[in-house]
Amino acid sequence: MSKHLADYDSGPLYFKDAKDCYLYDIFGARYLDFIAGWCVGNLGWKRKEIIEAVKKEAEGGFYVPPFVRWRKWEELASLLCKIAPGKLSRAFRCTGGSEAVEFAIKCARATIGKKIIVSIDGVYHGHTYGAASVGNACNEKINPCAPGFVKLPMPTQKNFQQVIKQFEELVQKNDVAAFLSEPVFSNAGVFIPPPEFYPKIQEICRQYGVLLAMDEVAVGFGRCGKLFTSELWDLQPDIMCLGKGLTGGYGGAGATLVTEEVFKKSRGIPDYSTFGWVPNATAAMLENVKILLKKKPWESAKILGEQMLKSLKELEKNPKVKEVRGIGLMFGIELREPIARKIITQCALRGVLMAECDDHTLFISPPLVIGQKLADEGVRIIKKVIS
Ligand code: PLP
Repeated sequence: MSKHLADYDSGPLYFKDAKDCYLYDIFGARYLDFIAGWCVGNLGWKRKEIIEAVKKEAEGGFYVPPFVRWRKWEELASLLCKIAPGKLSRAFRCTGGSEAVEFAIKCARATIGKKIIVSIDGVYHGHTYGAASVGNACNEKINPCAPGFVKLPMPTQKNFQQVIKQFEELVQKNDVAAFLSEPVFSNAGVFIPPPEFYPKIQEICRQYGVLLAMDEVAVGFGRCGKLFTSELWDLQPDIMCLGKGLTGGYGGAGATLVTEEVFKKSRGIPDYSTFGWVPNATAAMLENVKILLKKKPWESAKILGEQMLKSLKELEKNPKVKEVRGIGLMFGIELREPIARKIITQCALRGVLMAECDDHTLFISPPLVIGQKLADEGVRIIKKVIS
């Protein structure tokens, strides 16, 4: 064990290998993957076609600097804009999800010429300063947070009309550039907004000339039963952030898609990303996205997810469990006591891996290709441990 790796919260497991929906530790123990690297490995691990594509690109052995053109960047940007909802027509190259959110903030301010970005309280949008400040990650350790961010409460069935009203009142003060949000609040504990919420937010954005920026870093590429989760609410965002499932874990990259108008008005923002879409990551993205589009794993995952949710919901009879929420193949189990880590450890000892949103909430996001048998097996173990 090295003392030199800067690392605070990692669990005790040392991984060595992964294949399909399983991970293997250095002692050879096998774990059913109920987390997929937190919405990264939507197609599971070690897909031959993606590995081959990355290998082939690596054999080329070159780096493309941001100040030249490269055909594969153009091919990938066109593909992403073609499959994205609404009128998104340009893709900024990023190294990951946090950078994709930074681009969203910069583009929104540059386009509208106002500074406030409105977001939802308690939602994670990344670890860099802007992303941490628009999300929940800016804390007393790194104060002062970046300025120009206003948070609204998490919309629930009870309060969503009030949240919409608060948003409209903020916008009327005339200093708002954008509403930046996840279409489903994944890392906050899998909170699903009422279906009326986003269409109304979008309507207000359009009415007052404010941009709608959706963070699909975690929920994009099939996680919630559609290719993009914004499609659940028929949204046409002006800006969309992508990461995680975009590479499937076979490279490090993100993207910020914007409309033509946003692109034109954003000229002059800092946009030089040295390692944004390096060739290996580009090859991974192209192959990964092509397979996703061909196989459409979210269609079967949606049906499987409904069955899993029904089964996991039975846990609500247990006094330790407050609520089970889920959509597509993403679930949050909210506990009445801070025992999430204990449950995760017990499940790992029985060969199932999952994660936590906080000490009261378990997070489950298996690969979309997990299938009925393995899903049943994992759910059975989780239910047994909690009981
Ligand atoms: N946005 C959301 C919704 C996320 O879940 C994350 C990461 O968990 C990010 C942004 C940041 O992505 P990255 O870790 O690739 O910087």
